[in-house]
Amino acid sequence: MKKKALNLFTLILSIFILMPNLAFGQEDLVDDGVIDLGTSADFPPYEYYEKDEIVGIDPDIVKAIGEYLGVEVKLHDMDFNNIIASIQSGKIDGGAAGFTVTEERKKSVNFTDTFAKTSQVVLVKKDSDIKDIEDLADSKKIGTQLGSIGHTLATDDFGEDYVQAFIKVPDAILSLQSGKIDAVIVDKQIAQSYADSSKDLDLLDSTYLEEEYAIAVNKENPLLLEKLNEAIGALKEDGTIDQIMAKYEGSEEIEKTDGIIGRFKANIIENGGYKYLVDGLKTTLLVTFFALILSFSLGLIIALVRAANAELGEELHGISGILLKVMDKIFAIFISIIRGTPSTIQLLIMFNVILVNLDNLILVAIISFALNSSAYMAELFRGGINSVSKGEKEAARSLGLSYYQMMKKLVMPQAIKNSLPALGNEIITLFKETSISGFIGLADLTRGASIVISQTFDAATAYFSAAIIYLVIVLLMEKIFKKMEKGYLYA
Ligand code: GLN
Repeated sequence: MKKKALNLFTLILSIFILMPNLAFGQEDLVDDGVIDLGTSADFPPYEYYEKDEIVGIDPDIVKAIGEYLGVEVKLHDMDFNNIIASIQSGKIDGGAAGFTVTEERKKSVNFTDTFAKTSQVVLVKKDSDIKDIEDLADSKKIGTQLGSIGHTLATDDFGEDYVQAFIKVPDAILSLQSGKIDAVIVDKQIAQSYADSSKDLDLLDSTYLEEEYAIAVNKENPLLLEKLNEAIGALKEDGTIDQIMAKYEGSEEIEKTDGIIGRFKANIIENGGYKYLVDGLKTTLLVTFFALILSFSLGLIIALVRAANAELGEELHGISGILLKVMDKIFAIFISIIRGTPSTIQLLIMFNVILVNLDNLILVAIISFALNSSAYMAELFRGGINSVSKGEKEAARSLGLSYYQMMKKLVMPQAIKNSLPALGNEIITLFKETSISGFIGLADLTRGASIVISQTFDAATAYFSAAIIYLVIVLLMEKIFKKMEKGYLYA
C-alpha cells in the first residue's frame, strides 16, 4: 500500500518535472510548429524572387536554421514597412528582411545576434553636384524607403521636409532618375546593383552609416530568440553563413540595355519578367472577380434594406419595423466608415487585426475589397432605386401590387439599368484598386512588376508593362459594359 502511494507520488512528481520540458520542446517553439517569418522579396541579394520561389541570403540562412532546429520555417512576402507591425500583432513570429538592428526597433521587437555587416550609402545621378555626404545638406529632396533605417536617419539629420519616403526602393530610384529628388539613401548591395545596371546613377564613395543585419523576433517569444541565436551561433561556427554569403557575392550580372524597346525585350521577354506579370494578372483578376460577386450581392442587399426602410419604415410597426431601422442604421454607419477611410488602411487592418489568423492572402484581399466596394455599390444601387419616380411607385401600389412585387417588377429593373454606367465605373475602380494588394504581400499585377524590378533594376519598363496590361483590361471592360448597356437599353 505504502509502495503504491509512493509510486503514485513519483508519477505525479515526474509529470510536474517533465511538464516544463515538454512545453519547451521544439514543437512548442511556435504555436503551430512552423516558424513564420515576414520578408520583403524586393531586396536582392538578401531576398528576391527566382521563378515562384523567394531566394537569397536571408532565405538560405533561415532554411539552414530550420534544418538545425528541426523545425519548418516559412517565409511570407509582404511590404517591408509592414513586417514589424505584423510581428507585433502575432501574424508572424519574426522577420528576415535585411533588418538593420536599431535601438528604436528594439522597443518593438527582439533581434537575434547579427550575421552580416553592411552599410547605408548614397545614390545620386552621374552629373549631380552632390559629391560627398556633407553635400546632402544642400539637396532639396532625399529619397528613402518608408520604414527603413535610411528613412529614420535622413529625417533625423535633414528634417522631414527634405526627405521623401517611398513604399519601394525602385520608386525612389525612378524619382531620382527623373530628377524629382537629388539623392537616395539605401542599403549598399541594392544601391550597388542599381549603379551597376543603369548608366545615369553613381554611388558616393563615403558611407552614410555602418550597420548590421539580424532576424527580428516577436518580443513575447524569448524561447524562439534563444533557439535562433543558438542556431546562428552554430551556423557561424561551422562556416555555413560564410558559405551562403559567398554564394551570393557578385552573382548579379546585369546587362545594360538601351532604349525602351530594347529594355522591354531584354527585361520583360528574355529574362522572363512577363511570367511574374502574367501570374500577377491572374491573381488580380481572381481577386477582382470574387470581390465583385460579393460586393454586388452585399451592395444590393444594403440598398434594398435601406430603400425599404425609407419607404416602409413609417408604416411598419413591431419587430420588423425595429429590425429594419436598426439594419438601416448599421448599414449607414458601415458605409460612412468605408467611404471615410482609405482602402489601403482597410486592407492593412483586415490583414493585421481582423483576419489576423487567416493565412490565405487572396481571401483576405477578396474580403477587404468586397467590403470596400459593397459600400459604393450600395449607394449607387440606392441612387438607381431612388431614380424611379414616386408617381410610378404609387401607381403600382394603387394597382394592388405588394411592395415586394413592385420592387421586383417595376423598380429593380429600372434601378439596375440606371445604375449600369456607375456600376461599370465601380468595377473598373475595384479592378485598379486591387493594385494595393502588395501591401499585404499578395503577388498581384503591381507586385509582379515590383518583382521584375527587383531582378532587373529597371523600374520604368516594368511599370510601363504593368500599366499597359491594366489599360488593356480596362478598355476591354469598357467595351463589355457598353454592350451590356445597349443590350439593356433596347431589351
Ligand atoms: N536594412 C534596411 C532596414 O532595415 C532596409 C531593409 C529592406 O529594405 N529590406 O531598414
